[in-house]
Amino acid sequence: MVSVEEAEKIILDQIIDFGTELLPFEQSLGRVLAEEIRADRDMPPFNRVTMDGIAINYQSVYNGISTFKIRGIQAAGDTPIQLIEADDCIEIMTGASLPETADTIIRYEDLEMRAGLATLTSNDIKQGQNIHYKGRDKKLDDLVAESGYMIDAALIGFLASVGKSEVMVKKLPKVVILSSGDELVEVKDTPSLYQIRRSNNYTVKAILNKYHIKADMLHLPDQQEIINTQLKYCLEQYDVILLSGGVSMGKFDFIPNELKKLGVEQLFHKVQQRPGKPFWFGKNEQNTLVFAFPGNPVATFMCLHRYFIPWLKKSLHIFNRDPEYAILDSDFSFKLPLTCFLQVSLYQNSDYRLMAKPLEGNGSGDFANLIDTDAFLEMPIQQEDFKTGQVFKVWRF
Ligand code: AMP
Ligand code: MG
Repeated sequence: MVSVEEAEKIILDQIIDFGTELLPFEQSLGRVLAEEIRADRDMPPFNRVTMDGIAINYQSVYNGISTFKIRGIQAAGDTPIQLIEADDCIEIMTGASLPETADTIIRYEDLEMRAGLATLTSNDIKQGQNIHYKGRDKKLDDLVAESGYMIDAALIGFLASVGKSEVMVKKLPKVVILSSGDELVEVKDTPSLYQIRRSNNYTVKAILNKYHIKADMLHLPDQQEIINTQLKYCLEQYDVILLSGGVSMGKFDFIPNELKKLGVEQLFHKVQQRPGKPFWFGKNEQNTLVFAFPGNPVATFMCLHRYFIPWLKKSLHIFNRDPEYAILDSDFSFKLPLTCFLQVSLYQNSDYRLMAKPLEGNGSGDFANLIDTDAFLEMPIQQEDFKTGQVFKVWRF
């Protein structure tokens, strides 16, 4: 049996680099960037007009001119029209490039437009107003996003803007989710009085979906030979096997033994924690990792968030803010020599601090309780009585 910290260290020592792949940029949302994104030109690329109105030379206003002759109309995208006389102006639109002979934009709201003339109706005109200057945001070649950035909508827009129709991202591991146990039937089936529908595998799949991993699913019956054949196949086909069930002390918990027979080295079995004590972890020579979680739904759920997700984030070089910390909002006791992962609902108190309200539920089989809670609070093994106001690591789900 290992401690939570030891289990975490063993798992995080098994980081795998899955390489990179090129994707059409529109399909890259939520993936991890694997190249640097730089400005392909100055941004903005020209002195950009930011208001619809007229372009003038400020010196003319300074010299007392307040009525301007409209020399031309310049739309966004047009070649700039130049001013010639001191009382010339150009009617100009937002997004147009400022003519070199002009230096100030006056918006329509501050003008009266009549018979080819524009007359100022405001004397609050500042030189250089309403212009977004070339290179003000980014210079050609400036770094905008580093490798490791989780691609979001803002970056998708930027990729479009710099003409990156394809983008290099981190490849994702090939994952299979295995359920095990003869008591489990499919979602569409009606369970007999003593059976239940399998659900853990769907929970795990849903969580992986958040990371854009399209995992396969397979069910193992409690029969040694079939378990052996299926596990052998999975070890050949996948980078990671996520198993739930069949790793405890039961008569039909064949999985750890079959994994060993297939050359999967046990890196630990059992963690000093509740829920999730029977958690088994190992790898084979080809570095296929096997996370075998106990079948109780809360245990699978907790182990996935506490161990697998941090491993995934580290392997994909995702910038990681976890764990967060939250303040316990009522006293809680836990007398066993185990790290307790307490289900809590999170809220902000009037000082905007993150508070955790314990909602224990009825043990690791009570997965309905997960719906009422938001996170696991990690209660250190050394302590038995946890007091209101103490701060602990929190793992959101
Ligand atoms: P085990 O770890 O196989 O002893 O299973 C522990 C408990 O979790 C048993 O009550 C199982 O019926 C239940 N269980 C195992 N796998 C699943 C699953 N995929 N979905 C829902 N419950 C499960
Ligand atoms: Mg079982």
